[in-house]
Amino acid sequence: MKRLWGKQVSDLGFGEFLRKLKHQSKKRIRSVLKIDRWSPTSKCCCVCGYKNETLTLADRHWQCPRCETYLDRDPNAAMNILKEGVASFGLGVVRPIVLFNRIVGTSIEATSPLLKSTNAFA
Ligand SMILES: [Zn+2]
Repeated sequence: MKRLWGKQVSDLGFGEFLRKLKHQSKKRIRSVLKIDRWSPTSKCCCVCGYKNETLTLADRHWQCPRCETYLDRDPNAAMNILKEGVASFGLGVVRPIVLFNRIVGTSIEATSPLLKSTNAFA
């Protein structure tokens, strides 16, 4: 969105941002899916699903006690949001690619012709 509108997108209120996002997605024949605002996207490990109940807003990084993956708060939440979105549309399965307890990429296994299977590395 920042690429399309530059810095002004940062100044929008969230409601206005959503309105513009929906408008752009309709124009480009895309879909916008809002996930549950209380979905614990930051607290759940995107690798194994473990829920960290003690995570606070100040915790920017944490290590999952179950799978021992080191997680950055925002990329972990983004991965969980992507997983939920892809699953909600029944398009496939999203899995983080983990190497030495670090997420190094994303694997998307498409189950629908609307999505292509791919691997992406950071
Ligand atoms: Zn985990």
